[in-house]
Amino acid sequence: MVLFDNHNHSQFSFDGKKASIEDGARTALASGLGGLAFTDHCDFFVPPMKAAYENLVPEVFDVKAQQEEIGRVQVLLNADTSTDGKNGIRILKGIEIGMHCDHHEDIRKKLSDSSFDQVIASVHYLDGTDPFYGGYYEDKDWKQAYGRYLETILQEMTWLEDFDIMGHYDYVVRYAPYPVTCLRYSDFSDVLDEMFRYIIHEGKALEINTKSYQNYNGREVTLDAEILKRYRDMGGEIISLGSDSHSPDRIGAGFNEYAARLKTLGFRWTAHYESRRLVQLAL
Ligand SMILES: [Zn+2]
Repeated sequence: MVLFDNHNHSQFSFDGKKASIEDGARTALASGLGGLAFTDHCDFFVPPMKAAYENLVPEVFDVKAQQEEIGRVQVLLNADTSTDGKNGIRILKGIEIGMHCDHHEDIRKKLSDSSFDQVIASVHYLDGTDPFYGGYYEDKDWKQAYGRYLETILQEMTWLEDFDIMGHYDYVVRYAPYPVTCLRYSDFSDVLDEMFRYIIHEGKALEINTKSYQNYNGREVTLDAEILKRYRDMGGEIISLGSDSHSPDRIGAGFNEYAARLKTLGFRWTAHYESRRLVQLAL
């Protein structure tokens, strides 16, 4: 079984200063992964409270510099670039594009200005706020907060179309103040069905983002198996594993556990994209 980690941040992300591409690739190689993608952050909208705190507007990385560094490291490691990944490590050129309704033109331009192996489409900021800093949850109960986040992903990804992986659908649960620590299928079946129908029809991947299931200050988010079952029952087969690492030590975190769970649920492959084309590897 060969696994790819499709979601990693490097020194080119505003929040990845300690994550060199070279260290990450060496770590991935040593840990037996077949490949990894560097999907650095690109968010044109940054909430005012965050901009004031971190002095960052907008969070857009230098694609050319990142891709040159990936190319350098790929050669340096003298990796086998075949897709089976058996004799080396395949380093993919990626981007995590932050979808936002006020920046459609910027987003389209950023994606068309460069060539990528894979594009993760995510929502990090909504309602002018940032779930990470907490403002998003004020005046919402858990169901409103989680539901609105899912609706926003659905709305923005169907607008965008130009992406490969639907990123961390349960990001909104990670930093939430509520006792509800699992985004359950039964609570959001209508919107989840609509999301799945879209990504299945369009050949895009559902991401399992293992960072979501880390322990945050004693609060542990869990993945609802019913979500995966429903996706599979609707015909969904394309699954992307991502650690969302911001330092080499988390690359591939939890992959063996989630790969085993996928297999138990009847999934046969994990997926990644090379030059925007789907590649599936047997579990
Ligand atoms: Zn993200």
